[in-house]
Amino acid sequence: MSNYPQLKMLINGEWVAEGGDGTMEVINPATEEVLGLMPKASSEQLDAALAAADEGFRVWSAKPAIERFNVLRRASDLIRERKDAIARIITAEMGKPMAQSLGEVASAADVIDFQAEEAKRAGGRMVPPRSAHILSQQVHHIPVGPSVLLTPWNFPVNLPARKLGGALAAGCSVILKPAEDTPATAQLLVETLVDAGVPKGVVNLVYGDPGKVSEHLIASPVTRKVSFTGSTAVGKHLGALAAQGMKRFTPELGGHAPVIVSENADFATAVANCATVKFRNAGQVCVSPTRFLVARSIYDKFVAEFTERVKTIKVGDAGADDTVDMGPLAHARRIPAMDHILGDLGGNRGEILTGGKAIEGRGFFYEPTVVAAPAADSRLMNEEPFGPIAGIVPFDDLEDAVATANSLRYGLAAYAFTTSQDESYYLGKALHAGMVAINHLIVASPETPFGGIGDSGFGSEGGVEGYLGYTDTKFVTVAKS
Ligand code: NAD
Repeated sequence: MSNYPQLKMLINGEWVAEGGDGTMEVINPATEEVLGLMPKASSEQLDAALAAADEGFRVWSAKPAIERFNVLRRASDLIRERKDAIARIITAEMGKPMAQSLGEVASAADVIDFQAEEAKRAGGRMVPPRSAHILSQQVHHIPVGPSVLLTPWNFPVNLPARKLGGALAAGCSVILKPAEDTPATAQLLVETLVDAGVPKGVVNLVYGDPGKVSEHLIASPVTRKVSFTGSTAVGKHLGALAAQGMKRFTPELGGHAPVIVSENADFATAVANCATVKFRNAGQVCVSPTRFLVARSIYDKFVAEFTERVKTIKVGDAGADDTVDMGPLAHARRIPAMDHILGDLGGNRGEILTGGKAIEGRGFFYEPTVVAAPAADSRLMNEEPFGPIAGIVPFDDLEDAVATANSLRYGLAAYAFTTSQDESYYLGKALHAGMVAINHLIVASPETPFGGIGDSGFGSEGGVEGYLGYTDTKFVTVAKS
């Protein structure tokens, strides 16, 4: 790719191309072409970023909210101006179709706008005192401090934007470490903040080995908050590290979203939504619908129509062909991960109706896969696939379907389709997840909280909650002197 940017870290307002710890190749997953070399930060460079964030916090948290708003608003304008360039890099680095990359860039700008506005709105509150002797009781939301933001590759601009928007609006300085698969996308986003006038040291960008970088940054006394999006296993590890320093931690982790399709569903809406949204981003979405629980009376028809739709999904190099519906998996390790998920099916343990294997040739492509009636104890029904694999099982009783939906330790998103008001109410209440959508499959918007429960994490990003996640609560009371 000719216009892939030279990768540089941003440390204390300086762009740094030399990594003290060597380099790592960034690969286009559709072509296996080496896009560029990512510098890896040394311990000294991480310490420099920490020192910059420490000083940056003093500068930024002292700015009036309106100044923070102005910088963030200029940045979101720049994101919109540069949308084509950013989207092209997303597609090159992780393979999603350009239309999805452009949609993601638009969301990133909107998310930053919402959080910027929140900086102006977020007040504290006055609490009536119990005694005339007390003049005031004030509750303040103060910025938590320098924050470490660890983001994955599946939404390489929107997830950093969610974290950066909330943190910067609240007055925190940050060190962003994006996924090693998608550094240039994060770099283009950070460039918009620099060009919008964020003071030096407030935003730092580092690359490197994720384990080494995160452990170093979390251990530092400078760091006061850690926000991580990624797998449950890594989230538990990072949470334990953060707890040792009593640091705020917001984990947004894996999911295995159930979709209950009632016999009262609008069938056409349900099947069209499910078969499309499941394969968006090649299924590499934490809220991807994955376990389809379908009323037995409509099960055969649902499986047949779902599978026919899936067979029409065009898989290919989205950077070279605008008509592609689904790109590759993000990196080579995802192929054996898909094979593992499908590895214990067969016989009476579930039938692969379409797909089921990697596509031969260059790139990390996997066939869109539909499995009918996977066994209840199969990997597919229990482990997060994080890829283009759908399992469909019949149910006889709605309460049993809810029990199956709620049976895993994950609790990120859950979905249902029904035209019955009573069922909508029941399902909205009974499905145990951080986000529930009925009759559609969209749970992310700039204005609403996004987050899970159980093994999917805790805390929220987006919405007012996204802002408050970067604040501590402080109580100030004044008595008559
Ligand atoms: P992976 O665990 O190797 O990497 C996933 C992400 O976590 C990457 O961005 C990586 O940089 C980061 N990471 C890994 N170890 C880390 C550490 N010790 N400290 C800090 N960051 C670390 O997995 P993968 O094969 O790339 O992705 C698949 C798995 O990751 C899936 O099972 C899925 O649950 C999870 N994932 C979740 C999300 C999400 O949106 N919640 C996004 C991407 C990946």
